[in-house]
Amino acid sequence: MIHIEKLKKVYDNGYEALKSIDLEINEGELICLLGPSGCGKTTILNLLAGLLDPTSGDIRFDNESIIGKHPKDRNIGLVFQNYALYPHMSVLENVMFPLTVGKNKKTKSEAFEAAKKYMKVTSIEELADKKPGEMSGGQQQRVAITRALVQNPKILLLDEPLSNLDARLRLKIREEIRRLVKEIGITTIFVTHDQEEALSISDRIVLMNQGIVQQFDMPQNLYLEPANLFVAKFMGNPIINTYEMKKEGNVLKGDDFSIDINLLNKNRFKDELNEENYVVGIRAEYFELSKNPLFRVKIESTELIGKDCILNFYVNGKISKSVTDTHNKITEGEGVGFDIDYNSIYIFKENGVRVY
Ligand code: ATP
Repeated sequence: MIHIEKLKKVYDNGYEALKSIDLEINEGELICLLGPSGCGKTTILNLLAGLLDPTSGDIRFDNESIIGKHPKDRNIGLVFQNYALYPHMSVLENVMFPLTVGKNKKTKSEAFEAAKKYMKVTSIEELADKKPGEMSGGQQQRVAITRALVQNPKILLLDEPLSNLDARLRLKIREEIRRLVKEIGITTIFVTHDQEEALSISDRIVLMNQGIVQQFDMPQNLYLEPANLFVAKFMGNPIINTYEMKKEGNVLKGDDFSIDINLLNKNRFKDELNEENYVVGIRAEYFELSKNPLFRVKIESTELIGKDCILNFYVNGKISKSVTDTHNKITEGEGVGFDIDYNSIYIFKENGVRVY
């Protein structure tokens, strides 16, 4: 229902914030725009909302181009990270406000009925008489979302809506947002730079870097089948271990361990390995403690996170991380052996494109 085609945005100072974006978003989908600061997430949102004009390219809602259409005529609900509530109005007045202005304004009693209905859906009825200054951040954000929904938009755009909330509340409100937008069935685009938030809430994620879509995919695919080195590094915590390795015959050669290409899973190759230099990516969970190890190391330090423990060690000239069960009781200074699950490693070309 949302088609974005060759969308480009060059700002007045010549900065190319979006390079040529193509996206197709289905009706009712909950999509996250994810990526590091400055990658162009807010620019896309503002282009969708009509707060900015594109340099070139097209955006269509239900096959109708909205380029040049006034923001008010796009049938969009917008929610910002700073809530933008009117401080002198009560919650009820804030929620009613968009229905009492503009071309399609409703009578006072219609606006009241609609506000009541949506305040029930978002469970803020009991806050009706409060002023924004008398509420917590989470409550204010709920009011801001209700004010966006009361206009019955076809599309809901949320720009980092949880970033002013503490960690616990973020978890709670993101679950609420997902439940709510799925209940209403509204197409939702949610901007965040937090990969965990995106993984937990989205139907699909648009992962961006430097104005380019790196991968548009279901959350588990971004983690398990990264398209390139940027995606592999961005998704996952701890960050994936990477090693520059040279191809010598049928081996990717490293100082402490090498990878025998003949032992790799033939079905996972996307291309032949016919270059000299590669980057091998191994997630922390794919170094397995072993009695028949591929290599042995001394543990430099450990980080306990609960059920799991992160082990830090040097291998192939780089500080590396492995995750192990805390029950293994590995301690600093201990010598251990690791094996590698060849089915779960990644191989990237020097330009970042994944080949295995
Ligand atoms: P963040 O997570 O920090 O909000 P973002 O991914 O939303 O980042 P955008 O706000 O879309 O990033 O900005 C994309 C790039 O365009 C950034 O490098 C930014 O500095 C630049 N930019 C944004 N607005 C303007 C402007 N009005 N003029 C010039 N450059 C701009």
